[in-house]
Amino acid sequence: MDRIIGNGPVKRRVLVVEDEMINRELLGNMLSSHYDVVYAENGKAALDVLSEYRGAFSLMLLDLRMPEMNGDEVLKKCKSDPMLSNIPIIVMTQEKDAEVESIRAGADDFITKPYNMPEVILARCERIIDLYEKKTLIDSAEIDALTGLYSGDFFFEYIRQFEQFNDSPMDAIVIDIEHFHLVNEIYGRDEGDAILRNIANTIRTELDKSYGIACRPSADIFFIYHPQTEDYSALEDHINKEIGADSLSSAKIRLRIGINKNVDKSASPEQWFDHAKLACNGLRRDYTKTLAFYDSALHEKQLYHARLINDIDRAIEDHDFIVYYQPKYGIQGEKPVLRSAEALIRWKHPELGMISPGDFIPLFEGNGLVQKLDRFVWEEAGKQIAEWKSKYGFTVPVSVNVSRIDIYDPELENTLLGILKKNELTTKELLLEITESAYSDNAARLIEVVNTLRQKGFRIEMDDFGSGYSSLNMLTSIPIDVLKMDMKFVKNMLNDDKSLKLCELVMDISRFLDVPVVAEGVEEKAQLDKLRSMGCELIQGYYFSKPVPPDEFAKFIEKEI
Ligand code: C2E
Ligand code: MG
Ligand code: MG
Repeated sequence: MDRIIGNGPVKRRVLVVEDEMINRELLGNMLSSHYDVVYAENGKAALDVLSEYRGAFSLMLLDLRMPEMNGDEVLKKCKSDPMLSNIPIIVMTQEKDAEVESIRAGADDFITKPYNMPEVILARCERIIDLYEKKTLIDSAEIDALTGLYSGDFFFEYIRQFEQFNDSPMDAIVIDIEHFHLVNEIYGRDEGDAILRNIANTIRTELDKSYGIACRPSADIFFIYHPQTEDYSALEDHINKEIGADSLSSAKIRLRIGINKNVDKSASPEQWFDHAKLACNGLRRDYTKTLAFYDSALHEKQLYHARLINDIDRAIEDHDFIVYYQPKYGIQGEKPVLRSAEALIRWKHPELGMISPGDFIPLFEGNGLVQKLDRFVWEEAGKQIAEWKSKYGFTVPVSVNVSRIDIYDPELENTLLGILKKNELTTKELLLEITESAYSDNAARLIEVVNTLRQKGFRIEMDDFGSGYSSLNMLTSIPIDVLKMDMKFVKNMLNDDKSLKLCELVMDISRFLDVPVVAEGVEEKAQLDKLRSMGCELIQGYYFSKPVPPDEFAKFIEKEI
């Protein structure tokens, strides 16, 4: 046996199966400069060599006519044995018929005897080896070794090819295992792998019933491309039952299933699964469900919100935020008198146009960015009060909104006092509005903060009163200076008896607490008259004016003079 291992990289090993010694030598001479050549003189010897070397051959050259066991039989055995089927085989024969037959039986090429064209033989061997190695490389990239499902890249390629012929509606499904890393950490990787294989097998059984395909694009995530179905609870049940059936750690496992139903074929397969993933991720905080569907309207909204969050810093720099002012009028005298104003933020977005605070304040309250905006508004309002004061010789107090997030800012008091100092104002000139629902969030904290602010002299207006859930008991202990009646009572007070009664109730509470009421959202004279007769002191609403930019607001001040 001739095994040459040079100084360079180990040579590829080739098995020559040939009964005639002279032929073995001929082939050996042709190949041994390129390959590590191993010989066998008949079919049986070939199988022995294969098992001795554990099938580690890059190529087999196989004579068809041999004693003991001939080539056909070796070919059949090799192609039906998973350990050997990936060895390419070139058959060697003189008969034309045999060539065709052996190609049918799985041979990859043939060489005709006698062996009188060494370059051609060598070139054929090289080509076949090269082809097989490339194919093996592709196979290993296509298939996830752990689960036998497709790999991510190939999965998408497959879908693209499939879609060239497919018109039926399809669904993209994402399955994610919650806290999978914990399973690995607590029960070990073997158990983790077993669970993954189990889920993969369950998915495969499901797919056997249809023509879908699946892949495992990353550790604990599975993608399924599936003909559209109405009922997913079967799949859900099946998988849950399977992973519960024979797994140690089953009790710890929760799956999240996100479905992008009837995918939009004008988008890309990657997008279909991105969207299913969004639905899946949406289940993170929801322990009541394990299955969710992608909702494009919701997605649009999320994109819009992401855009707003992305744009906020630039908007502040570019002065896209502006402060509008809405007057509050005292109505108990003969004529309405301008008493104060509310500062309300506006976002003039260069591409999206005017955005209402109702669209971005709740969003920025969710991630704390509202603090930046509030500071900006307070600064602007401070400057504005000082400017009007020096121009007209008297103060129009302005109330600013203090968000529930600001209450947790230890610097709140200092920030506000700093603004007053910078503009030479007193606490009677900058009023603070805090929405009622903030009181129910964390009453203790709020009462503490409000008390300190009041001790400094600030006046606190409870905004949107009636929309929150303040208990009567809490109301008596809350330190406030003004109640702002929620707009929805005013809106319906003239056509709905209940709303009118609630307005009366708010008036009663204000008398009990001994604080004045501001009615918001007053649009009609009839509402104003009714509120006046009920004892309401202040009115804010479109009846007098919408919130307007500072120069327009100046006209109200001038009218007053
Ligand atoms: P809010 O503090 O209760 O402000 C009153 C809202 O009612 C304003 O809406 C105002 O334009 C609107 N409004 C006033 N009169 C009428 C009326 O007669 N009819 C109707 N239909 N609406 C009227 P806006 O400016 O859209 O603000 C909405 C909410 O956004 C505010 O409610 C407040 O909670 C919040 N907000 C606005 N600016 C700021 C701010 O600078 N900081 C914080 N934290 N929140 C703000
Ligand atoms: Mg307000
Ligand atoms: Mg309000």
